Amino acid sequence: MDTAEKIPVGISACLLGMEVRHDGGHKHSRYCTGVLAKHFSFRSLCPEMGSGLSTPRKALRLIEQGDQLRMVTTDGLRDHTDLMMDFVDRTLPALDSLRGFILMAKSPSCGMERVKVYREDGELMHRDAAGLFAAGLKQAYPLMPIEEAGRLNDDSLRENFIERVFLYDDWCQLVAGGLTPQRLIDFHSRHKFQLLAHCQRTYRELGPMLANLKARPLEEIANDYIHAVMEAMKKQVSRGAHVNTLQHMAGFLREGLSQEDRTLINEQIDAYLREDVPLIVPMTLLRGALRKVDQPYLQAQRYLNPYPDSLGLRNRV
Ligand code: SF4
Repeated sequence: MDTAEKIPVGISACLLGMEVRHDGGHKHSRYCTGVLAKHFSFRSLCPEMGSGLSTPRKALRLIEQGDQLRMVTTDGLRDHTDLMMDFVDRTLPALDSLRGFILMAKSPSCGMERVKVYREDGELMHRDAAGLFAAGLKQAYPLMPIEEAGRLNDDSLRENFIERVFLYDDWCQLVAGGLTPQRLIDFHSRHKFQLLAHCQRTYRELGPMLANLKARPLEEIANDYIHAVMEAMKKQVSRGAHVNTLQHMAGFLREGLSQEDRTLINEQIDAYLREDVPLIVPMTLLRGALRKVDQPYLQAQRYLNPYPDSLGLRNRV
């Protein structure tokens, strides 16, 4: 895939193997540079280096002071909060072209969640914070899929994050091309079965929301809509929810397929439910069936092709 076609995604620089950590080392993620880099155009940044710190440097941690989090050296002698917040404020507006972000876990700058927070006397208080850069990123871009590199080792979390990046990219392209009622309806139509799989409640709520696009300003409806979609997409799809979605799709094909084809599809959906085969098996059969049946609505469903097959994600869920 050439760079122009790749999806722009941000990443903590140490995950690309850059020696920017406090100890002069890196945290190279082979999955990111080996697999994801074929599809994502990575834009790396190191908030600590970007704040003007050097490498090697003293390790940092978060401490709670009143209702504020401060970023200080572990010996408590230097407070780098203002430098970091200045970097965050300068940098965030330039990240609006990104369709996702992969962060280094546990860092007081980059950690997405479960970052340790200490008292001023050095006692550990809790592990419920986000790093200062990560917190700013989440606040500035609430729709953007954000994940920690370590969690991408989990098959379901990895598949979920990548699916969200591709869907968010589709949304950003829609917005860049100009929001119109028809384009909003088309977007909803092609992502309908993904929504059904991720969250039946949201799936049921969004149809009525789009039924009357004159009820409120279009931008307002679109904003509510995409926030609900991106929130629903964070939910991991259970095996049962995939089975329900596959059966729903197979139901549309009942008329156009032979009894033999229908039986084969249903057998493989059952085999997936028993965990005998991965999701890719019934999915491939459905895609094959759609070549024989003229069903433009189903053929357009991103549920069948949410990301390139070469990522191999549905072989593992
Ligand atoms: S975790 Fe973030 S701040 Fe720390 S070295 Fe990596 S990119 Fe830099």
